[in-house]
Amino acid sequence: MGLSSVRTRILVSIIGVAFVGLVFAGGAAYLVQRDRIAHAVDDRLLQRVESARAVVGDDRPDSGDAVGSAEAAVTHGGGYATTRDALRGVLERIVPGEHEGALGLVDGRVAFVPGVASEIHLESVPGFAERAAAETVEGDAVQLGTFVDSGVWLRYMTAPLAAPGDPQRGVYVVALDLDAAHADLDAAFTSYAVIAAGAVIATGLVGWFVAGRLLQPVRRLSSAASRITVNALDERIPVHGRDEVSRLTETVNGMFDRLDRSITSQRRLLDDVRHELKTPITIVRGHLELLDPADAEEVRATRELAIDELDRMAELVDRIELLAELPDDAPAVEPVDVAALTREVHAKSSVIAGHDWVLAATADVVVDLDPRRITQAWLQLVDNAAKYSPEGTPVRIGSSRAEGAVQLWVEDEGPGIPPGAEARIFERFGRVNTGRGIRGSGLGLPLVEGIALAHGGRVEVSSSSVGSRFVIILPNDRGDRADGGDGA
Ligand code: ADP
Repeated sequence: MGLSSVRTRILVSIIGVAFVGLVFAGGAAYLVQRDRIAHAVDDRLLQRVESARAVVGDDRPDSGDAVGSAEAAVTHGGGYATTRDALRGVLERIVPGEHEGALGLVDGRVAFVPGVASEIHLESVPGFAERAAAETVEGDAVQLGTFVDSGVWLRYMTAPLAAPGDPQRGVYVVALDLDAAHADLDAAFTSYAVIAAGAVIATGLVGWFVAGRLLQPVRRLSSAASRITVNALDERIPVHGRDEVSRLTETVNGMFDRLDRSITSQRRLLDDVRHELKTPITIVRGHLELLDPADAEEVRATRELAIDELDRMAELVDRIELLAELPDDAPAVEPVDVAALTREVHAKSSVIAGHDWVLAATADVVVDLDPRRITQAWLQLVDNAAKYSPEGTPVRIGSSRAEGAVQLWVEDEGPGIPPGAEARIFERFGRVNTGRGIRGSGLGLPLVEGIALAHGGRVEVSSSSVGSRFVIILPNDRGDRADGGDGA
């Protein structure tokens, strides 16, 4: 699955980088070393030729670039009478070094071998003497060459040699076994390759475990997240340490919290709605069941009751719809004259019978608000005051300015909210028996609060046994400073 492929990808990258790095480092070092050996080999061969010159008394200074130049031939010797003598002298006196061999050719044939035992016997390397002879048929330049044949790998130098006046052509050949010269380097690099392979494997193993450890929290996160379903939203993923993964875990937990709250509140709303609808259905059904169709008076009463209950249900459905819309619907705010709005709400309230409606104060200020929604909320408070305060008592409606805010309020002389129930009445379907019986849906105040919140405001209630005051407090961002204020 996904995570193991991430682990594999990490591992492949680690191993790839380690491998390429080791190959490049090793390869470069190997090539540099080989180059150095090649130079050292050529230097040594040249040294032998220099020595040969010294033996035959050729005292020309080394030009430093003897190889391939005509002057480099060992021909100026004066110490020996014949070419054979000179060649014999050279081979007897110059002791071949490590991995070296030498030959003396006269007229293309092997005439002399070193006086002491050398490590390689050039005379018994098939084809070597012939090749060296063929290369020195013409000219008298010192030449360098490489001989690879039948498992032998030689670097050699041929130096023509002749005593003055002697027609015989001699060639001093010195050669070095390149296989042997490279043996140490090859051994070292074989060890290097083994160690490097071990290092890559070790890196891979460590990388596999480290990647596994690093991905472990992600795996835990993913398995925990897959366990958490709508039906088991209470589980949270344990947070370990302080890194990117723990922050991701916290974010995911936070998301589950919000999901949990939203689903819980939806469930509660659904439960409440079911419960709320059951009561009117039971009432209407009960009455219809017991109804005597012949009794006209009873039919009339039951009809009224049924319509009443159905109206309540319709109101309930309307309010649920509104409550559901509120969080998503931004209020259509516009500059509104609060004093005018207060007078309007008062005028609308005045038609409700049973109370003395008083326009107590008007705030002379223009505030950004959604007049339709605010009127709706305000009238809800008016409706509550009418419902829950005794008939004939006055209800005061007013607005006033506060620091950076405007207050829209309704004051009644009812029995007030029982202490401790202030929070309850703002809950959905939260109802409290305030003396005149429970008559509402319990959705009125949540609606008022929802509308206030949508405007960035809030609702406050102060209540005592002699009356309640509900205030919608809205922010006044325009900061208008009009006169008049709280005049009635
Ligand atoms: P309802 O539709 O039941 O009126 P609300 O959310 O408007 O629902 O009110 C919730 C409860 O708050 C009511 O049941 C009532 O007990 C209490 N309440 C609201 N307004 C007043 C008020 N002006 N005076 C006394 N109690 C009130």
